[in-house]
Amino acid sequence: GRRVVVVGAGMAGVQTAVALREQGFTGTVTLIGAEPHQPYDRPPLSKAILLGTAEGSAFDVDFEALGIEVRLGQEALGVRPGAHLLDTSAGPVPYDSLVLATGAEPLRLPGTEGVPGVHLLRTLDDAERLRPVLARQHDVVVVGAGWIGAEFATAAREAGCAVTVVEAADRPLAGALPAAVAAPMTGWYADAGVVLRAHTRVARVEPGAVVLDDGTRVPAGAVVVGIGARPATAWLAGSGIALGAHGEVLADDRLRASVPDVHAVGDCASFPSARYGERLLVHHWDNALQGPRTVAADIIGAAGGEPAPVYDPVPYFWSEQFGRFVQYAGHHPAGDTVVRRGDPTGPAWTVCWLRADRLVALLAVGRPRDLAQGRRLIESGAALDPVLLADPARPLKAA
Ligand code: FAD
Repeated sequence: GRRVVVVGAGMAGVQTAVALREQGFTGTVTLIGAEPHQPYDRPPLSKAILLGTAEGSAFDVDFEALGIEVRLGQEALGVRPGAHLLDTSAGPVPYDSLVLATGAEPLRLPGTEGVPGVHLLRTLDDAERLRPVLARQHDVVVVGAGWIGAEFATAAREAGCAVTVVEAADRPLAGALPAAVAAPMTGWYADAGVVLRAHTRVARVEPGAVVLDDGTRVPAGAVVVGIGARPATAWLAGSGIALGAHGEVLADDRLRASVPDVHAVGDCASFPSARYGERLLVHHWDNALQGPRTVAADIIGAAGGEPAPVYDPVPYFWSEQFGRFVQYAGHHPAGDTVVRRGDPTGPAWTVCWLRADRLVALLAVGRPRDLAQGRRLIESGAALDPVLLADPARPLKAA
């Protein structure tokens, strides 16, 4: 039978292996992961796992029953596409089809590599190192007011820590949302008792404290760095597989990489979106769930001659921060008009982005129904009346 090798045993890798079996693939499936742990889900790491209200987040998948061979604690070191070989720390592995699903790695704060008490939050090991920081209610400094920073700050406050968030930009989520949309979120920090220091950078980390660029010394039993992530693809250098400006594998609309018999999916890959007219690099869970179905279909189709449908999702993600459920669907840079539903200083509101009279993205805070209805409207591309849309009492629906 054919041999599929999947590199990276996170959400995208596991879902690819599972989707292959669900879609009837009968060849060999080998899942190779660098981490020693049973494959696990990441979103709980900045939520229940940190607080100790959940022990673990291992995926509920019976790999043995599915005939998926899982090799843990093995690192992929390179690919030789011509020879159809994956080089790993345990030796070369031959493949007929290779799937790259190595995810992303958090950026480090320059100058803090190896400094004790400075943490990242990407892996189960990271979360386990941070648990005692919360349990002992240390003072914490969070670097970066992005999604991870906000979620960590939420958990740390819940645990009773004093929390300062240091952000180089003038507001939270500056990389993700326009100023006017993110503005109300600044208040969320204050309401939660978090000190948000915008327009501020870390000058240095000392034992027990962080010194900011304005000279302020903030006591810190721990520092958590959440300043973004980059595709974990350094190991592909020299393989001939085309990578983009952020190191992402440049996949096509069926998530094929630039060399034969190699796909790439999840946080490590970008793909061209016809829907949005640009290439998307998505670092969210739903993309690591949906993309694998396309990959599996394309691998199976390659043998049967049937091409998979193209991958052109409406991106979706959620975040739980400061007692709020924040959801986003679509891609707002494609929009040209912003319509608000509800009072942004209140507990529940939505922002819609339209292009001409069609919805291209929405951000819903505490309004999951808006999200569900809006996501369908984005998918269908139906025309909307912006005036009706602005009334939060009306359901989100086509004109
Ligand atoms: P990963 O989950 O990063 O998995 C890749 C795996 O590949 C890793 O286990 C890695 O060790 C392994 N690997 C890397 N290099 C190699 C190599 N050379 N050889 C072998 N193995 C290798 N998204 C949301 O939508 N909502 C949320 O609330 C949310 N919360 C999150 C909270 C945290 C703390 C984090 C870190 C992420 C969160 N995300 C959330 C994002 C979501 O978890 C990711 O988009 C998703 O995990 C991507 O899956 P992936 O399989 O592509 O990558």
